[in-house]
Amino acid sequence: NRRIVLAERPRGMPDDNTLRLETSAVPEPGPGQMLVRTVYLSLDPYMRGRMNDAKSYAEPVKIGEEMTGQVVGEVITSNVDGFAPGDMVLNGSGWQDYALSDGEGVMNLGPDPENPSWSLGLLGMPGYTAWAGLLLIGEPKEGETVVVAAASGPVGATVGQIAKIKGCRVVGVARGPEKCAHVVENLGFDACIDHRAEDFKEQLAAACPDGIDVYFENVGGKVLYGVLPLLNAFARVPVCGVAGWYNLDGLPDGPDYGPMIMSTVLKMKVKLQGFIIFDSFPASTYKDFRRDMKDWLDQGLIEYREQVVEGLENAPAALNDVLEGRSFGKVVVRVG
Ligand code: NDP
Repeated sequence: NRRIVLAERPRGMPDDNTLRLETSAVPEPGPGQMLVRTVYLSLDPYMRGRMNDAKSYAEPVKIGEEMTGQVVGEVITSNVDGFAPGDMVLNGSGWQDYALSDGEGVMNLGPDPENPSWSLGLLGMPGYTAWAGLLLIGEPKEGETVVVAAASGPVGATVGQIAKIKGCRVVGVARGPEKCAHVVENLGFDACIDHRAEDFKEQLAAACPDGIDVYFENVGGKVLYGVLPLLNAFARVPVCGVAGWYNLDGLPDGPDYGPMIMSTVLKMKVKLQGFIIFDSFPASTYKDFRRDMKDWLDQGLIEYREQVVEGLENAPAALNDVLEGRSFGKVVVRVG
C-alpha cells in the first residue's frame, strides 16, 4: 500500500520536501469494515491550505499523516452492510492506494457508474460549489453580467455555464489563449480575458459594457482589482476561493487595496459573502443541485473537461500544476 504523507509544512509553493511516498502492508478489514482500493484521486486547490498549521474551516493535515482528498474507489472486501465487492464508492480516504472504512460518510455509486470520476468534479463537490455559490449567493438574473475567473477549471467552467443557462452575459478570466478559446468556443461564455495581458483591466472593462452584477470570486489579486471599479450597485460577490493567494507567505508588498475594497463594498452596496461548501447551505440543496445538473446534462447544456494524471507518484507535481494554473480542466489522478 503506497501513501503520500505530509513530510513538512511548505513556505510558498510545495516543493520536493513537502510530501513523501511511503509503503506499508495492505490493511486487513475487521468486523464492520471494508477495504477500498483507490481508482481516482481528486486534486483540488484547497489541499494547499490543509498543509498549513493555521486556523481554518478544517483541521490541518498532521506531519506524517496522508494528504487529505476525495477519491472514487472500488470495494475489494466488505463487512459493511450496503457495500459489496465491486461497488464503486465516493470516499474521503486521501492520497493512498487502499483504505479501510466503516462506511460512515461514504457514498455508494453502485457497481457500474457512468463516468465514475465525474463524482469528484461536475457531479460532486466542485459542481455543487459552483451551483450553490452562484445561484444561492450570486442570485443572477436574466440580462445581468456575471464574471468568473479560473474559468476553465471545474468550478469556474460550471459557474459560467449555469449563468448562461440563466440568461446572463458571462465573461470568464483565464490564463493564455488556449484556455480562453476553450471557454468561449466550447463552454459558450460571451468573452474570456487572459489575466496575464498587460491591458487586462481595459479588456475586462470593454467586455463588461454594462458593468458587473455578479463576480464569482475564485482567485483574488489582479482579477479582483480589475473587477472592483466595474461593480454595479447591489452587485453580489460570492467569495468561493482566492487561489492566486494560497501560496502567500505573509502579506505581499505593494499598495494597500483595503480602502478600495471596503469603499466599493460600501458605496456600491455590494453583497460580499464567503462560503464553505460543506456547511454553508441547507443539506437539502444538494439534491436540488443533482437534479438540475442531471437535467442540464441530459439537455446537452453543460460541457465538462477532465485531465487524467497517471499514477499516485505523480500527484504532488500535478497538485502544483493545479495551484499554478498549468492544469486544464478538472484534474484527477488514476491511482489503480
Ligand atoms: P482550478 O482547477 O480552477 O484551479 C485554480 C485556478 O486558479 C488555476 O487553474 C488558475 O487558473 C487560477 N489561478 C491561480 N492563480 C491565479 C492568479 N494569480 N490569478 C488568476 N488566476 C489564478 O480550481 P477549482 O475549480 O477546483 O476551484 C476554483 C476555486 O474555488 C479555488 O479558489 C478553490 O479553492 C475554490 N473552491 C472553494 C470551495 C468552497 O467551499 N468555498 C469548494 C471548491 C473550490 P488559470 O490557469 O486560468 O489562471
